[in-house]
Amino acid sequence: MERSDSPHLFSGSTLDVYTSGVWHASALLADRVKAVRQPYSGATVPELQEQVDAVDLDRPLGDTGAALHEVARLYLDNAVWFHEPTYVAHLNCPVAIPALSAEVLISAVNSSVDTWDQSTAGTLIERRLIDWTAGRIGFGPGADGIFTSGGTQSNLQSLLLAREEALDGRDRATSLPRLRIFATTESHFSVSKSAGILGLAPDAVVGVPTDDSGRMNIAALIVAIDDELREGGIPMAVVATAGTTDLGRIDPVAEIATVCEKRGVWFHVDAAYGCGLLVSPRRRHLLDGIERADSVTVDFHKSYFQPVSSSAVVVRRGETMRRIAVHADYLNPRAAALPNQVDKSLQTTRRFDALKLWMTLRTMGSDQIGEMFDAVIDRAHDVHGLIQADPDFEALAEPTLSTVLFRYRPERLTVAECDELMPLLRQRLFYGGRAIVAGTRMGGHYWLKFTLLNPNTTMDNLRDVLDLIRGIGREMTGERDEATAVMA
Ligand SMILES: *Cc1c(COP(=O)(O)O)cnc(C)c1O
Repeated sequence: MERSDSPHLFSGSTLDVYTSGVWHASALLADRVKAVRQPYSGATVPELQEQVDAVDLDRPLGDTGAALHEVARLYLDNAVWFHEPTYVAHLNCPVAIPALSAEVLISAVNSSVDTWDQSTAGTLIERRLIDWTAGRIGFGPGADGIFTSGGTQSNLQSLLLAREEALDGRDRATSLPRLRIFATTESHFSVSKSAGILGLAPDAVVGVPTDDSGRMNIAALIVAIDDELREGGIPMAVVATAGTTDLGRIDPVAEIATVCEKRGVWFHVDAAYGCGLLVSPRRRHLLDGIERADSVTVDFHKSYFQPVSSSAVVVRRGETMRRIAVHADYLNPRAAALPNQVDKSLQTTRRFDALKLWMTLRTMGSDQIGEMFDAVIDRAHDVHGLIQADPDFEALAEPTLSTVLFRYRPERLTVAECDELMPLLRQRLFYGGRAIVAGTRMGGHYWLKFTLLNPNTTMDNLRDVLDLIRGIGREMTGERDEATAVMA
């Protein structure tokens, strides 16, 4: 048989197959999304499990169109739609279309941003974006950084750099168990996860108390560091969170910077969520002091409307990244004077995710992104007011960013009844499919949570969600009235 290109592999001779495959996928998606009226179908785990298990992976359908239709039924019909305005649960955003155009290019070209010879201009584009981000943070020309898979990896890499700085000039074996990280209990769980991966002691993460609003208490931080020093600990890093996952609180960044500078401790700012403020026309000041950090985590897939994954770690002193460079003759030999991004990354093969942000900035510009982030924060304040004015609901605290913690609590329910009811109510809401909210525990109580990242979510949408919750709450507590009966 004559040699011929596989019809399923992307090449110059299969472009008709390629364009029809991509067109087919986007047409199918558009067709499904057009019919979407609510964030979720309401399907249960066993229902979906059965459908997925029924597929025989060893009997291919042979045709992209057929496979796509199967996937539409298995996946799209039961996906959770973050663009739906009543999806207000976690830190997921509707995505920018320029970034989706970039996705088409990234996956077909399939560049790997590890060595120069696998990425060329891709490497330079990524580097420009790191420089741009560093500029927004306020770092000087010595800054550097790398795109990562997410805030978890960015935090891990920052703490790895902090560990190497702290161990520099010390005996590694005896010093490692003495290293301490200072962070509040509101910090992201990837901080303690990282401590474990980095081989630190089980009690390496010291929980710093917060003030009444949930921000790191500076006096308590100083006491905690001094206590650890007195007991032979080595302060390795202080982690400030700029946008805690639940309350959206921003630790006092500038004051923490002063403490860290005085004591020579690595200062990391986890701005996975709050990084949207870097481009905010009205709220950039909330991050004042971030330019004094040693490292910063930014998640573009949280507040820059980027598809997963898009995240970066940025460091003020680029030379600190050199400590983690490892060289292999087959990939990035030490002598090579080429820009090999693998020298700075925990990953080797790595997607050219940076192109999505590039396309977004080149199409929309950063002001629009910042304005949209400002808009969802405005909305959070408005809905907080709405909840406070409603006797059936109780709000936990004034928002800082775009999360609002609240609970359904008409007067006739005790707090204990309410704590028991909320998780069940949330579950009932989820399987109803019409709205999705998050839930969390805080101060020993269970709270529902709105996380607003969709500028298309209106106050009317949020009023509808509150009414849905009220209806379910009344039903579950055995109180039905005319209004809820009509609504259900
Ligand atoms: C989301 C988040 C992370 C983790 O980021 P991923 O991209 O999910 O890995 C870390 N820190 C904070 C504050 C976050 O909100």
